[in-house]
Amino acid sequence: MRTKLTFCNAAAPTTPQARESELRALMTMASHDLKNPLASIAAHVEVLRAEYGETDEDFRHFLAAIERGLGRMSRLAEELMDYARADRELDPRQSSLNDLVGEVVGDHAATPGTARVTVAEALPDVVADAGLLRHVLDNLIGNAIKYTPAGAVPEIEIRAFDLADGSTRVEVSDRGIGIPVAEQPKVFDAFHRCANSGGYSGTGLGLHICRRIVERHGGRIGVESNIGGGSRFWFTLPSGRTAPPARTEVS
Ligand code: ADP
Repeated sequence: MRTKLTFCNAAAPTTPQARESELRALMTMASHDLKNPLASIAAHVEVLRAEYGETDEDFRHFLAAIERGLGRMSRLAEELMDYARADRELDPRQSSLNDLVGEVVGDHAATPGTARVTVAEALPDVVADAGLLRHVLDNLIGNAIKYTPAGAVPEIEIRAFDLADGSTRVEVSDRGIGIPVAEQPKVFDAFHRCANSGGYSGTGLGLHICRRIVERHGGRIGVESNIGGGSRFWFTLPSGRTAPPARTEVS
């Protein structure tokens, strides 16, 4: 017997903005709904480890593989939520880069030896959505630490200065693995991961989200990098004297 299919005739969104916003809403729901089953699997893995983990080596390996998969799925779900959040209404205010950078560095380098971070004195204030700007800094500083080869202490330098046109340029430099020249223009594309980053975990969404946030503020983002010599990620924020532009079309 053939199954009868019923199609929903709800009107499809007509403009690119409406489609994009529907897609983001869907992503928020899907990633949010993934959290409970993922937490449940993680809890069951814990129980299995406690019950049988000591007895069987193969079993321990299987559990470890499941946990690695769970970790990847959780990170992806988290980043999909961030992707949706990056498009929320902007709340631009006068924000202290000093404070934001201090908080993010504190989060990443709380344990001595995690990283050597040099922050230039007296970073200028900016007008931006502090929560989203924090997200950009968090991602750039997190990457600077992550993409330093294991065994080396990450060395990071953060500075920010006003440009002649009144905009502010923020730079996060590291001495990590670097990015191949041919791939530098692609690192801000969704899901792009560079050929030399295979040994480092990631989803390839973080920089895409950063670009979205910076561009929504009317700024630009880029990178200069040498393989083995490190990378300098930079972004600009327009002068605080003018409000960030309203929502822009997604590229
Ligand atoms: P993820 O780190 O989750 O893979 P991102 O979007 O943050 O995703 O970065 C995209 C890619 O750019 C990374 O996979 C990596 O190849 C490269 N990359 C980003 N930051 C750095 C860095 N500081 N040093 C070297 N490579 C980097």
